[in-house]
Amino acid sequence: MKHLLANPAYKMACDQFDAVADFMNMPVALRERTKLPKRLVTVSLPVRLDSGEVKVFEGHRVQHHLTLGPTKGGLRYHPGVELGEVAALAMWMSWKCALADLPYGGAKGGVAIDPRQFSVGELERITRRYTSEMIPFIGPQTDVMAPDMGTNEQTMAWMMDTYSHQIGHAVPSIVTGKPVSIGGSLGRKEATGRGVAFLANRVADILKLPEDSRVIVQGFGNVGSYAAAGMAKYGARIVGIGDVGGGIYNPKGLDLLKLEEYVARNHGVSGFDGGDAISNADLLLQPCEILIPAALDRVITDKNAGKLQCRILAEGANGPTTLEADAILRQRGDIFVIPDILCNSGGVIVSYFEWVQDLQSFFWSETEIFDKLYRILGHTLDTVLKEARKHNIDHRTAALSLGIQKVVNGKTIRGLFP
Ligand code: NAD
Repeated sequence: MKHLLANPAYKMACDQFDAVADFMNMPVALRERTKLPKRLVTVSLPVRLDSGEVKVFEGHRVQHHLTLGPTKGGLRYHPGVELGEVAALAMWMSWKCALADLPYGGAKGGVAIDPRQFSVGELERITRRYTSEMIPFIGPQTDVMAPDMGTNEQTMAWMMDTYSHQIGHAVPSIVTGKPVSIGGSLGRKEATGRGVAFLANRVADILKLPEDSRVIVQGFGNVGSYAAAGMAKYGARIVGIGDVGGGIYNPKGLDLLKLEEYVARNHGVSGFDGGDAISNADLLLQPCEILIPAALDRVITDKNAGKLQCRILAEGANGPTTLEADAILRQRGDIFVIPDILCNSGGVIVSYFEWVQDLQSFFWSETEIFDKLYRILGHTLDTVLKEARKHNIDHRTAALSLGIQKVVNGKTIRGLFP
């Protein structure tokens, strides 16, 4: 699997694992077994476009480990999708699920397309063909998908429908993050962003930051928009938001409701007249108390980590901070990092709730869901901070080592087959 290392995200996930394995003194015999992905599936997807032309897309699914239960992870539609990136995201999902004590291994899937370039009909056909090609490898007890960048509730509804047709009856537990009307969970759509806001707000309390702390969010999709709305509810001031088309900045605070209406009409924040236009690169460097990267990976690098002006870095996106940037942040010591595998875990936790509800055909109230979610997030944050203090290590190393240790424990006690 050495070829995967050509992908920078996979290399980063492996280097991160190696450093944490060193810290944990992990026996050599367990390292490769824990680090390498169990299954990599790549399929060709011939799809008829609206023009009548048939185009063949490439779809991937990586299942990182199968030790603790089915694998779980999102499906991404983005032009940058590559097998190595998908494998990195699957690995991070493994540590994330284990850290939150969910009975899952990590997985991720993706198709290298820009969904904005395709009609709804074309996206439906791509999704259905991807699902049908993956049928031998997925199932409620094997691998359960969810939305990620570029996919949404509708994508999950098409996946569930395609799978259910093959099986002969409705199987809601095959995906999470689907509409509530077909077995989705209340709160799942908002869960990742609200979880990010809950944790950022709790850390702001620990650091005794002002109630109207300034917040900058990169990404205004599912995670970014609900994180911004959540922070505003806690009384914070949203001073900057960026998306793929550029950013908008107003040190006095953006009117979030107006911005949401504007984005619904214009499909992006760019051009909104409630603030000044700013590039995404500059947006990250503006003064604020809380910075939330909620778009792409590797956006905090050795080029900008030394220039960040935030007190809390709440990682809504997966893998937003490179290893080099991490070293700079450690040296600086003035930025409280809430690492991705903790910060954005609200999504997979409520996905787990959705799966459990589907398996039991018994559904919970929104209050029940958020009470349970916040209890798990609060407890996990406390555990990570305690571990970091105990060993005098950074929060990312603490979170990763706790997650990785649980996977190692599972592998050790189950033993090696045959
Ligand atoms: P999304 O597709 O709903 O939104 C992505 C946002 O990022 C959009 O606003 C888009 O315009 C913006 N974006 C894309 N390219 C950009 C660029 N070059 N510069 C600035 N902004 C850019 O995706 P999402 O579901 O919100 O996921 C965002 C991140 O959060 C991803 O890293 C994803 O893996 C992670 N995540 C998502 C979930 C979830 O439940 N959706 C859970 C955990 C982690």
